[in-house]
Amino acid sequence: MGLEEAPSGFLLTTIEDLAGYLRKASLWPVTFGLACCAIEMMAAGASRFDLSRFGMEVFRASPRQADLMIVAGRVSQKMAPVVRQVYDQMSEPKWVLSMGVCASSGGMFNNYAIVQGVDHIVPVDIYLPGCPPRPEMLINAILALHQQIQDAPLGVNRVEAAKAAEAAAIEATPTSQMIGLLR
Ligand code: SF4
Repeated sequence: MGLEEAPSGFLLTTIEDLAGYLRKASLWPVTFGLACCAIEMMAAGASRFDLSRFGMEVFRASPRQADLMIVAGRVSQKMAPVVRQVYDQMSEPKWVLSMGVCASSGGMFNNYAIVQGVDHIVPVDIYLPGCPPRPEMLINAILALHQQIQDAPLGVNRVEAAKAAEAAAIEATPTSQMIGLLR
């Protein structure tokens, strides 16, 4: 029986807690950087800030051994398919952190050469604002992501959470107002 097939109830809740703890405590980022934000990411891994305190000292050279993509820097149209390919090659479950305004929204590069947000290419779990975000900010975003991973539901709990999120999104304004306008 896989993790996702455990029946609802006490057993599943216990497995969720354990899996969440193990996953958050062993995130391995994939090694790549796209622009100036990557310098701050490298600084976060060096001795002064020392990401290894959070179980992350190993930036993997192969996406197949990584489960966290830190998109550090603007994504050019030319790099977009490469970023997607790296994401596709990462092992499941996997998470994406969009670092800096350029990766999150295109930033000040409002032009045809830059993808206006990496969420056009890969699903983003957490956005980090700033230009560039300091290493402390990156570590703070990673700790917030740790909490997301710790609290992530599994199996039937995940299905129920997805349904609740979808219902909330449909109810949210301005979508519900737009549906009313279209009627
Ligand atoms: S957010 Fe600022 S530091 Fe980061 S890639 Fe864009 S311009 Fe460079």
